[in-house]
Amino acid sequence: MDKRYLFVDGEVITVNNENQVVEAVAVQGSRIIAVGSTEDILQLQDDHSEVIDLNGRTLMPGIIDSHLHITMYGTNELSVSCKNDSITSIQDLLQLLKEQAAMTPSGEWIRAWGYHDQKIADKRFPTKEELDSVSTDHPIIVIRACSHISAVNSYALRCASIDKNTPNPEGGIIERDGDGEATGLLLENAHMQMFQVAAFSKDEIGEAHAVASEHFSKAGITSIHDASGYGTSNLRALQQDSAKGIIKQRVYAMGGALSKSENVVKALLNSGIVTGLGNDRFKIGPVKVFLDGSSSGPTIWTREPYTSDSSDFGVHYFEQEQLEELFIPAHEQGWQITAHAQGDAAINMLLTCIEKANKLYPRKDARHRIEHAGIAAPDLIERMKIQGVIPTPNPAFLHEYGDGYCVSYGKRAEQMYPLASYLEAGVPAAIASDCPVTDFSPMRGIHSALTRLSQNGKVIGEKETISLLDAIRMYTINGAYASFSENETGSIEPGKLADLIILDQSIIQSKVEGIPFVQVEFTMIDGEVVYERLPEKANS
Ligand SMILES: [Zn+2]
Repeated sequence: MDKRYLFVDGEVITVNNENQVVEAVAVQGSRIIAVGSTEDILQLQDDHSEVIDLNGRTLMPGIIDSHLHITMYGTNELSVSCKNDSITSIQDLLQLLKEQAAMTPSGEWIRAWGYHDQKIADKRFPTKEELDSVSTDHPIIVIRACSHISAVNSYALRCASIDKNTPNPEGGIIERDGDGEATGLLLENAHMQMFQVAAFSKDEIGEAHAVASEHFSKAGITSIHDASGYGTSNLRALQQDSAKGIIKQRVYAMGGALSKSENVVKALLNSGIVTGLGNDRFKIGPVKVFLDGSSSGPTIWTREPYTSDSSDFGVHYFEQEQLEELFIPAHEQGWQITAHAQGDAAINMLLTCIEKANKLYPRKDARHRIEHAGIAAPDLIERMKIQGVIPTPNPAFLHEYGDGYCVSYGKRAEQMYPLASYLEAGVPAAIASDCPVTDFSPMRGIHSALTRLSQNGKVIGEKETISLLDAIRMYTINGAYASFSENETGSIEPGKLADLIILDQSIIQSKVEGIPFVQVEFTMIDGEVVYERLPEKANS
C-alpha cells in the first residue's frame, strides 16, 4: 500500500477557484487525496501514515516556471562562469580555468561563458598563448556574454582544423597576427562554427540536466516549460533524461532553437506530431520562434523609437508574411504556437498572425502563447484577451534590468510585464524566470511581482504590482493552464497530482521585503520527496 502523508496545522495555500487557505492536506501515492482542517485530515491516519506538523508554515502547490532553459542553465553550471564577481582580470579568469582543468580529464573541453571584455580590468580577451598557459591538454573556449565572440587555445584551434591557411568562413572572422597566424579570437560565424565543435556530449548534457534539476527542486520548482535552445536533438535529450528520472520536474518542451528556429519548427511540422504528445512527466509543448531581440540589449522591436535613441526601433527577425506562412499551418495542424516577442511591434506581429490563424481555421482552446511579452500595451492586452492568448511575463527582469529599461524605453518601462493589467483583463499570465537569463528563484520572482523594484531601488510602474496570492496563482495554476495541465497540476485539490512545497515560514505573514529570503524546506513531485530540509517531524 502506498504511503500516506498527512500535512497538518499549516497555512495551505490551495490556489483553488476560491483561493482558499486551509490547514491540512493528505497525499497518498502520487495524488492529493484530501484537503481540509487538521481535524479532518487526522481522521485519515492509519498504519502507513506519516504525519508532518507544519507548525504554521506554508504548504503550497509546486512552482511552475513557464519559460526557462534547463540545458543551457545546466551546461553553464558545468562551466566556468565569468559572471562570477571574483573575475575582475584575465589573471583571475586563467586561475579559475586552471582549477577547472585540474578537475577535467585530458582531452575534454574547458568552457567559460559570460565573458565581458569591457567589464574586466584588462579590457581585452585572453590570447591563445595565455589560454595555452592554462592547459595544452584540454581544448579551451571562453565565450563572450553576447554569444557571438569567443577566445580559444591552440588545442581548440586544432580541433576545428584552423591554421594559417584556413580562410575566414562566410560571415565570420578568424583574427590573425602580423604573420597571419590565428590569435585565438573568433568572431560571429567563425565563433559559431567553433561552438559546434565544442558542443556538449550526450553524457555532459545528462550531467547538466541532473545538476539543474537538483537546483530547481531545492527552489521548489516542480514543473518547467523548457524554452529550448538547441533544436530537435535537445527535445530528444529532454525526453530521454526525463524518462530516466535524471530530470525530476515535469517538462513541457517547446520546439525551437536559438538560431534559425524556423528550421526546427519546419522539421516539427513535418514530423507528424503536435502539441500534447507525451505524458504527465514529459509533454511536447508549442513550436517557438524569435521575433525580436533582447530587452536588456536593448534590441527589442518597438512601435515607437527608443527613448535613448530616436532612430532606434530595435531588430526583428521575421516579416509578417513569413511568420504567417510558418505559423498558420502550425495552427491548422493543431500546434500551440508561441514566439519570443518583447517589443510592442513584435507582440503586434504575433497577435496579427494568431488573429488570422484563428479566423481561417477556428479551433477551440488553442491557447497560443507569447513568450515574455515585454511592452504589453493596453491595446495588445485587449487583443490577447479576445484571442485567448497566454503571455509569460518575467517580473524578475524588472529587478535585474529595470534601470536600463527606463533609459531605453522611458515611460514604456512602466507598462512592461503588466501583471495587474493582465489580472484586470482576465488574461491568464504565467510567470517565468527565463533562467539562465535571470535567477530562477521563485521567491525573487514573487518579490518582483509584488514590488517592481529595480536594483537601484526604483519602483517601475507601481500600478502594475499585484498581491501575493495573485502572484502565486501566476506561478502555479496559470502555468498549468499554459501547458494544458490544469486538471492535473497547479493547485492543492483532491485528485490532483501531489506536486507541493513547504516553506520555512508563513509566506502570508512574512514582510514583503523578506520574501526573497524565504526558503523552501521540502519539495514533492508526483508524491515523491525530491528535496527535504525539515527541522522537525512528528512521526506516528
Ligand atoms: Zn528564453
